[in-house]
Amino acid sequence: TENQSIRNFCIIAHIDHGKSTLADRILDLCHTIPKQKMRDQVLDRMDLERERGITIKAKAVRLEYFSSQRNSSYVFNMIDTPGHADFSYEVSRSLAACEGAILVIDATQGVEAQTLAHTNIALAEGLAILPVINKIDLPSANPDRVCEEIENVLGPDHLPIALVSAKLGKGVEELLEKVIDFIPPPQGQAKKSLKALVFDSIYDSYRGVLPFIRIFEGLINKGIEIMIYSNKQKYQVIEIGIFNPDMKEIESLGPGEVGYISCNIKAIQDCRVGDTITLAINPTSQAVPGYKKAKPMVFCSFYPINAEGYEILKEALEKLQLNDASLMFEPDVSEALGFGFRCGFLGLLHMEIIQERIEREFDIEVVATAPHVVYHVLTKNGEIIEVKSPRDFPSAGEIEEAEEPIVEMKIITPSTAIGGVMDLCQSKRGVLQDMTYLDPNTVIIRYHLPMAEILFDFYNRLKSVSRGYASMDYEFFGYASSNLVKVDILVSKEKVDGLSFISHEENAARRSRELVTRLRKLIPRQMFTVSVQAAIGGKIIAREDVAALRKDVLAKCYGGDITRKRKLLEKQKEGKKRMKAVGKISLPQEAFLAVLQTE
Ligand code: GDP
Ligand code: MG
Repeated sequence: TENQSIRNFCIIAHIDHGKSTLADRILDLCHTIPKQKMRDQVLDRMDLERERGITIKAKAVRLEYFSSQRNSSYVFNMIDTPGHADFSYEVSRSLAACEGAILVIDATQGVEAQTLAHTNIALAEGLAILPVINKIDLPSANPDRVCEEIENVLGPDHLPIALVSAKLGKGVEELLEKVIDFIPPPQGQAKKSLKALVFDSIYDSYRGVLPFIRIFEGLINKGIEIMIYSNKQKYQVIEIGIFNPDMKEIESLGPGEVGYISCNIKAIQDCRVGDTITLAINPTSQAVPGYKKAKPMVFCSFYPINAEGYEILKEALEKLQLNDASLMFEPDVSEALGFGFRCGFLGLLHMEIIQERIEREFDIEVVATAPHVVYHVLTKNGEIIEVKSPRDFPSAGEIEEAEEPIVEMKIITPSTAIGGVMDLCQSKRGVLQDMTYLDPNTVIIRYHLPMAEILFDFYNRLKSVSRGYASMDYEFFGYASSNLVKVDILVSKEKVDGLSFISHEENAARRSRELVTRLRKLIPRQMFTVSVQAAIGGKIIAREDVAALRKDVLAKCYGGDITRKRKLLEKQKEGKKRMKAVGKISLPQEAFLAVLQTE
């Protein structure tokens, strides 16, 4: 049938192994983008992606490939995916729309933590995996060692391994021939009722929600009436298109194909990622298996700098959530910080990216409180509380038992750094599980670690003990009983709930001292002395004072020239940027993140 010439695959890899560069070369070979418009990592279109040099969103693109060996044409739907652990939810969604995955491995780095993690997701989805060793042009490339590691991961009877240099375009055509041979064409029949998976979507201010779909069965044509499987809402299809890589209108999409539709869906919650789209008349009897709901691991609250920002912040979160199903939020109100939202993320990078996207794409400034994990507390009254904000953590006297989340951490490191890695994990309350060799000089170390501990500088320290070579990946393991206390921070005797934190009892005093010292340096001096205190229950365990300003800034230029005065005032205004007023004092954003840093 028609489907025999279609291949749907995504590109997966550890960060920086060359996915986006390989995608560039594949686009070149398929003449998808006119030469004068081509640039490096062309699919990374978000400003943030280009500045940081990382892929945040998965991107689908449809390619026409002419195989001169076979003298026939193929349609490839290719999805470039992000490599960072925080975005593996994006990866798993992309995988559900594909039959195969190109697994890229850097010839100088070998298998790293996200290589393993993404491979496991692809295997669980039942995808054909085509391993590719990239960057073979580099003098330090060691394809033999990398082959051995791939065999250890995928088993000895793996598919042939392709050797490429994405940078130079070497081996890419051969790779595409392997794609045709080893990745199966999609199944599915045009005459069955429509069954399409919504694997992503965006919001367009004119056209509303545009679901990105992968069709498993049936056809979709302009003008037909479709139904969203979960809520039975019906819509008429106004436009159908493909990614070329920009949106390009076409007449219809058939089984195995990937594209978008526009049907005037106005309410964001009416068409969620993971849902199935079918026909209004004669709908399919079975939905496409959706996705496991993403489970946020890290929470923090966002507050607009000004109260007027609240509605914009709400709209921003709603729109970003449409595009990112792993983002959670709910209204939150803090005595000190006012109205805002408590948000859940998959990790710290995810949180940072969302804050930056809110500020850039919606043009408001927000203050983010320090990220923290979710605790479970059994109170003496027999109540079980899920604590999503340190503010809600009961006082010591009310707690029967407290539990904290534990992750299973996989660290891949050169064997020379085993000692340093183990010392680090031990100092973070880790429990060693096992150790296996990936090749004679590389080990996989498995630890159980409290998730709260890895929020605090874990990654940087892992990099430093391994001279940059170790990589890590973790997943939620379960909850375990732990001796936890809540530390409150008082500024000028007023409790600032956004600064409270939960700590293991052993570390509470040290962390409190470190934090108040850091806050003393971060809180701008006022006309009066400001005290900064840390307290457990009612008991003060640390204190520092921010000394009062001796002179008014303007006093110095009394009678002085006006431009100097204006400059000073402007400077002061700038210093106020991203400050959140708490009582009489303005706290800078850094103060809320100070709780995360360690010396
Ligand atoms: P991604 O994070 O997997 O998408 O990786 P990128 O495609 O952004 O590439 C990461 C870095 O590796 C970039 O600086 C690329 O220029 C570089 N790179 C990618 N492929 C090759 C290659 O085949 N050879 C060399 N020497 N560098 C490469
Ligand atoms: Mg990339």
